[in-house]
Amino acid sequence: MALCPECATEIVVDEDLEEGQRLECPECDAKLEVVSTNPTELLAVTETDDEEETT
Ligand SMILES: [Zn+2]
Repeated sequence: MALCPECATEIVVDEDLEEGQRLECPECDAKLEVVSTNPTELLAVTETDDEEETT
């Protein structure tokens, strides 16, 4: 179980969650990244899915 940093909703996560894994909050659709697995900690990701680099 982890908390969404955006809306504080409890999100059920896989036990074998890995750091760096991306998921979406089912409540607020925020894109989240796993920054820690013990305990599970999520960070809101603001970047788009585009891999474009700002040059
Ligand atoms: Zn949320």
